[in-house]
Amino acid sequence: MDCCAQLGLLPVEDALLRMQQQLIPVQETEWVDVALALDRVLAEAVLASINVPASDNSAMDGYALRGADAQTDGALFEVIGQSLAGHPFCFAAQQGAASALGSMQAVRIMTGAMIPAGADTVVMQENVTRTGETLQLNTAVVTGDNIRRAGEDIKIGSEILSQGHRISALDIGLLASLGIARVKVWRKLRIAVLSTGDELLPPGAPHNADKIYDSNRPLLCALLQRLAVEVKDVGIVADDLPALRTAFTQAMQWADLVISSGGVSVGDADYTKAVLAELGEIDFWKIAMKPGKPFAFGRLGAGWFVGLPGNPVSTAVTYHQLVVPAVRYLAGEKTLELMQLSAIAEQRLKKQPGRMDFQRGILINDQGVNRVVSAGSQSSGVLSSMAKANCYIRLEAERGTVQPGETVTVIPFDKFIS
Ligand code: AMP
Ligand code: MG
Repeated sequence: MDCCAQLGLLPVEDALLRMQQQLIPVQETEWVDVALALDRVLAEAVLASINVPASDNSAMDGYALRGADAQTDGALFEVIGQSLAGHPFCFAAQQGAASALGSMQAVRIMTGAMIPAGADTVVMQENVTRTGETLQLNTAVVTGDNIRRAGEDIKIGSEILSQGHRISALDIGLLASLGIARVKVWRKLRIAVLSTGDELLPPGAPHNADKIYDSNRPLLCALLQRLAVEVKDVGIVADDLPALRTAFTQAMQWADLVISSGGVSVGDADYTKAVLAELGEIDFWKIAMKPGKPFAFGRLGAGWFVGLPGNPVSTAVTYHQLVVPAVRYLAGEKTLELMQLSAIAEQRLKKQPGRMDFQRGILINDQGVNRVVSAGSQSSGVLSSMAKANCYIRLEAERGTVQPGETVTVIPFDKFIS
């Protein structure tokens, strides 16, 4: 038996798997303009309807000619015209109206311009001497040089972006380069966020030493914007049965997912559990992670529910490690990997075996070597050190205190958490 099982704790990977086994990704689709598609998830693959580039074109400013004519330096060519980007060389306008470049003929060509028929090579302008309409090669050339081939970047019919891909700004550029104006995406998820606790004050309320400001709800609402979902802020709900019942009932009527924080710890005085038991089928897990041991997940109405521990750092870490993968899966996304690196611990990192630890760290690259230090207090109530961090130091469950110089796994913060 491993250490997690002995302590009755659920390993992080198992929690993720259990959630994915229950969650059903969104089914409805919609068409959106590519300009508005940032961070949306593709409901169908995008195929290229054209070649990119559309035709053979020049990679350099220079002269297009037949490579077979240009095998000796000093060879002389007649310049018969020019090809500019957007204005290809036109044979029909030439005397005799040939349909392709003849022997010892050249066309002045600029970067991105179409290669005239018959030409198979571009000579850089630095490698020729031009006098009037005569061109002399300063050096022999290699046939095929300096040409970008039609379809070299993207071939017509090829898959550009796969179903389940979350669209990045670079993807928007790529889609635009193909002339694509709209894409079919899964509809946006509807996510409701609420905070529970009698001690909570909204930002802007007069300060009161008995109370604390609610940081989880603004934090979660802001983070959810990175996932291109519709967010409803349900507010602060008191630890009071009727108030919780009303808030959860309203939230679940609208939302695909309700996220609450606070009130999921064992032995809590809160009424969250009682209300959730009434309205849904929720499991209360003890996850083998630090921070963030208590965590709730299950069905609520026609949608789902996650309950996060109330301490702000625990909220942030469980959100990132457990909720983000669940939301991405629900949103129809297919690939969910987190980037992981190895780094050398510069300091002693205190830890007890038993739970996977997500310490907040600062990662630097020192002359090619990744080094990591603690971002400060590792208490689950201290958000200020997490706000300074740029990574997690992920320490395996069975591991004990890390000594300086040991190698640790680091997960750089991504846009879903910072
Ligand atoms: P709970 O999970 O409800 O037992 O809360 C654990 C700790 O987190 C308590 O100290 C709470 O006051 C604090 N806490 C709960 N919810 C929030 C919140 N929304 N913002 C800031 N701190 C909170
Ligand atoms: Mg509470």
